[in-house]
Amino acid sequence: MDRDGGDEAYREEVTPTSFEQGKVERTIVHILRRALADSPVPASSHRLPFQDYVDETPTDGRSLEDEDDPSDDFEDYNEDGVGLCRLQHASYAGRGLRGLPGGYSSLDASRPWLCYWILNALDLLNALPAPSTLSTTSKPPTKRAASSSSTLASMTSRVVDFLKRCQAPTGGFGGGPGQLPHMAPTYAAVNALVIIGTEEAYSAIDRPGLHAFLLARKRPDGSFTMHEDGEVDIRGTYCGLAAAALANVLTDELVAGTPEYLASCQTYEGGMGGEPGNEAHGGYAYCGVSALAILGELRRLDLPALLKWTCERQMRFEGGFQGRTNKLVDSCYSYWQSAIFPQIQPLLHLHHHQEEAIEEVKRVEEEVEEVEEKDEMEEVEEIPRPGRECEGDLMFDQLAVQAYILACCQDIDGGLRDKPPKYRDYYHTCYALAGLAVTQHNIDPATMPPTCLHGRTATDLLKRIDPSHGISVEKVQRARRYFQALPAVNK
Ligand SMILES: [Zn+2]
Repeated sequence: MDRDGGDEAYREEVTPTSFEQGKVERTIVHILRRALADSPVPASSHRLPFQDYVDETPTDGRSLEDEDDPSDDFEDYNEDGVGLCRLQHASYAGRGLRGLPGGYSSLDASRPWLCYWILNALDLLNALPAPSTLSTTSKPPTKRAASSSSTLASMTSRVVDFLKRCQAPTGGFGGGPGQLPHMAPTYAAVNALVIIGTEEAYSAIDRPGLHAFLLARKRPDGSFTMHEDGEVDIRGTYCGLAAAALANVLTDELVAGTPEYLASCQTYEGGMGGEPGNEAHGGYAYCGVSALAILGELRRLDLPALLKWTCERQMRFEGGFQGRTNKLVDSCYSYWQSAIFPQIQPLLHLHHHQEEAIEEVKRVEEEVEEVEEKDEMEEVEEIPRPGRECEGDLMFDQLAVQAYILACCQDIDGGLRDKPPKYRDYYHTCYALAGLAVTQHNIDPATMPPTCLHGRTATDLLKRIDPSHGISVEKVQRARRYFQALPAVNK
């Protein structure tokens, strides 16, 4: 093809992928510009990396300035700038718990997933009543709690009943009542029950059955099948281990050979594939990293190579993450990719980071003392303290991911989307919020306070999330206390 034949000829040469990439970049850059301009806080107070790139020419070679704003085609982007539509998301999630539109019928074999996605969104938003007010087997809720949260309380009790009906008599959960038990809905059902966090929810899990189901999925090479006679991939292994860890049925027999299998899924790129030899992929990399973290075996991976691959999945224009090399940005990877960092970073630079932080604290304390001695207290405010202009201690651009989620992925009527101009859905609502939670909370909260775009910690901060389980730290710790007090499960 003749490269000198003008713009048209050049465009004919671009691949469908690069054409789509250019379209997405232009839409997102326009939205980000508008959102930041509308923001009550000047963008300059937190200069975002993509602001250095917005005047460059996107991937497909077409100028940003010589065309209509493609984001005009849809109006439900966040016109308030970059604030979290907290109440709207909670309302959207709460409605989903009561009933779903007909379009979700295609997810009939994923109903425990819908329970998990919706409950997790509510929990991260801090919109779920506390387990003590939900419990139906202990004291009834107080009058005040009952009046403020009775609808959600009765809904979560119904979710527990429903998930019990998804549990197979032989252990493990199916995608719906009477369906074949399967690793994926088993993970989702256990997570959902742990999020509800009541005695009723915890005791719904048949622990000996769960252990037997998982053991029956185990293969000699350390991997797991998804279901009886099902396919093998790293997803099944993660789902099984995560559920077993939460329910305290993670026996030596269950995990023998599994770290070796998981490590064999790391690819030449540094990420992890679904099976040994497959392409590196954010979802599978998350599964592999989290499974190895649960087993305390992350050092089996080439961590610098994994770090490099994961860093390179953050998109320079969009700010969010892509799932694989040369793919489009997608908000769910804000979780799958970003949750890798807090799991591997402590192993990569813990020593260096701690020393650096301690030095910085010492330096600031000395400076404050000096100023106090000189009785120049007004200048104390000007001293940069660790975390004051904090952009976080995770090794990617946390604020750029937040800008992508908040400006481009929120439906102002509640719910979050993959990317503009797609529609909201419960899967992306869960994982975009989970990604937002990861990017807000730093590894070491003692030296690094939360990192929120434009400093909106008071309004936008979500609960801290456990990056190995995709559930709030609070609910994981509560479940651990409960299940670790129960007797061990053996074959
Ligand atoms: Zn997605």
